Amino acid sequence: MNFNPTFYQLRDQFPLFREKGDIAYLDNAASTQKPEAVIQRMAEFARYEYANVHRGLHDLSERATAAYEAARKCAARYIAAEQPESIVFTSGTTAAINLLANSWGEQNVQEGDTVLITELEHHSNLLPWMQLARRKKATLAYVPVDPVSQTLNMERARELIKKKPRLFAFAHVSNTLGSIQPVEELCALARKEGVITVVDAAQSAGHMPVNVSAMGCDFLAFSSHKMCGPTGIGILYGHYELLLKMPPWQYGGEMVDRVQFDGATFSDPPARFEAGTPPIIEAVGLHAAMDFLDSIGRENIAQHSAALAEEAAEGLRKIKGLRIFGPASGRADLVTFEVEGIHAHDLVFFLNSHGIALRAGHHCAQPLMRKLGAPSSSRASFYLYNTHQEVERLLEAVREAITFFRS
Ligand code: PMP
Repeated sequence: MNFNPTFYQLRDQFPLFREKGDIAYLDNAASTQKPEAVIQRMAEFARYEYANVHRGLHDLSERATAAYEAARKCAARYIAAEQPESIVFTSGTTAAINLLANSWGEQNVQEGDTVLITELEHHSNLLPWMQLARRKKATLAYVPVDPVSQTLNMERARELIKKKPRLFAFAHVSNTLGSIQPVEELCALARKEGVITVVDAAQSAGHMPVNVSAMGCDFLAFSSHKMCGPTGIGILYGHYELLLKMPPWQYGGEMVDRVQFDGATFSDPPARFEAGTPPIIEAVGLHAAMDFLDSIGRENIAQHSAALAEEAAEGLRKIKGLRIFGPASGRADLVTFEVEGIHAHDLVFFLNSHGIALRAGHHCAQPLMRKLGAPSSSRASFYLYNTHQEVERLLEAVREAITFFRS
């Protein structure tokens, strides 16, 4: 196993782990803990540097604006976007995808068109497209997940992309299967047919290198809270020429150019898509989180977390009556499983009583989990502060739970 001992020192930078005992927090796909660097930066900004952005003519507002725009520049570097103006701050991945469906989708999808997604999408990358397709009398098509290999059926993906859907939206890393989709290949196939691509990077942006130029995608979305940053902020990346053509979705202050009683003109992106007072303190926190992750190295984080997930998967596979979801190899950093005869909620309650935090349920991917015959399952998801000992604790507690519930 490829564990990196220096990672265990990082744990101390998280107040929760340093001060509150030895909770095994294995629910990182839902949200991640916050390091001191992020907490302190947000507190310092809120204490001494805070003001509203963009409209102020006083020093504090100018400095707050500079900090907010510095976060945008940092985000552009973080995903290798061509320019900071390609970065739109939203409240998270869900908001970013809804923005796309309601702005780009409203303008570009017509009756009879097809919007293509995959069967492994989180509801956030499914429902906005489903609703758009309903509104427009368009078709929502799905690239199937092979029930045996539990990876995308690439042959079907090629066929469906060849039919030239208006748009193809898919997750970089699946939050249920832990599979890593071949983003570059999928985007190249789509580009050849003139199909616009949207990558849901909610489970990858904080966990592995994400480079929009190398991926070749048109849009990409992610959430700060899943990468050591605060809640309430996320990012929509878009090719600037595409953003420039998109109409606003939400209206209000900050996004207008000239307003008259009988009409208005709107700002250029990204301001066009940031109506109202934005999440300023959160942007500063996200900036600190991206710096923190890059000081460790996303390649290192990916290796560490995937090694823990693989160790967990190996251990779980040895337990009789337990079924693991996801691909046989190439798993990212999570393991979803079900234990025969034990409801996932009961199992996760039991693990909680042992100080181990897991998620149980459908993981916001109901159609997929129904297709795989497991409407409810348990998920252990790992991150940079998790340890080999926590994997052992998890395995031991699952074994104990089985004895407990079956006796
Ligand atoms: N997509 C994926 C793959 C996710 O895992 C999640 C969060 N579980 C989301 C989208 C939605 O993210 P958020 O709730 O931060 O908007």
